[in-house]
Amino acid sequence: MTDYLSTGSLPEEYRQLALTVRDFAQQVVAPVSAKHDADHSFPYEVVAGMADMGLFGLPFPEEFGGMGGDYFALCLALEELGKVDQSVAITLEAGVSLGAMPIYRFGNDDQRAEWLPQLTSGQALAGFGLTEPDAGSDAGGTRTTAVEDGDSWVINGSKQFITNSGTDITRLVTVTAVTGNNGGKKEISTILVPTSTPGFVAEPAYNKVGWNASDTHPLSFTDVRVPRENLLGERGRGYANFLRILDEGRIAIAALAVGAAQGCVDESVRYAGERQAFGQAIGRNQAIAFKIARMEARAHTARTAYYDAAALMLAGKPFKKQASIAKMVASEAAMDNARDATQIFGGNGFMNEYVVSRHYRDSKILEIGEGTTEVQLMLIARELGL
Ligand SMILES: Cc1cc2nc3c(=O)[nH]c(=O)nc-3n(C[C@H](O)[C@H](O)[C@H](O)COP(=O)(O)OP(=O)(O)OC[C@H]3O[C@@H](n4cnc5c(N)ncnc54)[C@H](O)[C@@H]3O)c2cc1C
Repeated sequence: MTDYLSTGSLPEEYRQLALTVRDFAQQVVAPVSAKHDADHSFPYEVVAGMADMGLFGLPFPEEFGGMGGDYFALCLALEELGKVDQSVAITLEAGVSLGAMPIYRFGNDDQRAEWLPQLTSGQALAGFGLTEPDAGSDAGGTRTTAVEDGDSWVINGSKQFITNSGTDITRLVTVTAVTGNNGGKKEISTILVPTSTPGFVAEPAYNKVGWNASDTHPLSFTDVRVPRENLLGERGRGYANFLRILDEGRIAIAALAVGAAQGCVDESVRYAGERQAFGQAIGRNQAIAFKIARMEARAHTARTAYYDAAALMLAGKPFKKQASIAKMVASEAAMDNARDATQIFGGNGFMNEYVVSRHYRDSKILEIGEGTTEVQLMLIARELGL
C-alpha cells in the first residue's frame, strides 16, 4: 500500500472496484431509492446484492470471509454508493466499520470465529451501541450498566439512535456499559449482546428527516444476561476502543459525504445543461456555472482530505487529526452542495423524488453522526495542543 493516494491516479485495483460499485449503484440501487425513501423501508434486496458482491467483507482478511482488501477500498465503495443513496451507503458503512470492525479489531479467536463470517458475508448485521439519552458527544457519560453475576453479565439501560439495530438480519449489538468504578472514574467496557437475548428490545424505529431507508432504533436492556465471555476486548478499555473505531469511521463517513457532494455536482451539471429558461440552458448563466464550479471544488477538496487520512491510516501513521478534518469538510461539502443543487433544480429540487432533494434531507446528519462538527473541532484543537 502506498502512503500517498492521488485523486488523479488511483491504483488499478481500486479504480476497478470503484467502477464496479458505481455500476451497481446506478443499475441496482438508483431504481429503488425513491421508493424505499418514501416508504421508509429497509432495502433488503439491495443489501443482499451488496452482500453478493462481497462489499461487507471488503476490508477483512479472507480467513474471516472477507475480500482481503483494505479500509480505503471500503471508502471508495461508500463514495460511489453515497452519490446515489445515502441510506444504502450508511447501511454498509455502519455494517462494516461499526458492526464488524470492533470484533475484528478487539475480539478474541472465538468471538471472531463466531461472528465475523456472518457479518463479513452480509448475511447478518451488527449495531454499535454507544450513544445514550445522556451520552452523545460526551459519550463517556454512559449510564448503561453491566454487573457480573456468576458466569454472566447482567445489562440494564438504554441506547439511542443505533443504526442497523432492528432489521430482520440484525443479530448482534455491541454496547458500551459501566462495569465498575476505579477511584471515582467509571470503568467502561464493551459487551457483545446477541439480539435474541431476553430483555433486549429494539424499540420502534425513529421517524427521521432523512436516511429514511436506513434502520435506526432506540434500544432498551432489562436484565439482559449474556455470558462473561461476551466481553469484547480488555475490561475497562471499552470506551477507548470505541473511540479508535470512531476515528476510522470518520474517514468512511467522509467518503460517503464526498459521494453525496459529488452526486449533487453530477446531477446539477446534467440539469443545468438541460433546463431552459430565458431562451437558453440555465447553465449558460455564469451565476449557475460558478455555483457548480464551487460545488466541484468542495467535493474535490473533501476527497483529497479523506484520501490523505486513509493513506496515513493504512501506512500505520497517526491519522486522528486528518480523519476529523476529512469528516468535517466532507460533511459540510455535502450539506452545502445539497443546498446549492436544490436551488439549481428550482421547484423540482423541493420534490422528494429527485436525488438532490434526498441529498438535501440526508446530508444534515453527516454533520452530526459519528461526532458532530463541534466534536471534530474539539479533536483537531486537541491535536494542536489547545
Ligand atoms: C440517524 C442517526 C444514526 C446514528 N447512529 C448511531 C449508531 O449507530 N451508534 C451510536 O452509538 N450512535 C449513533 N448515532 C448518534 C450520534 O452519533 C449522536 O447523535 C451524535 O454523536 C451527537 O450526540 P447527541 O445527539 O447526543 O448530541 P449532543 O451531544 O447533545 O450535542 C448537541 C449539540 O451540542 C454540541 N456540543 C456538545 N458538546 C459540545 C462542546 N463541548 N462544545 C461545543 N458544542 C458542543 C454538539 O456539537 C451538538 O451541536 C446516530 C444518530 C443519528 C441521528
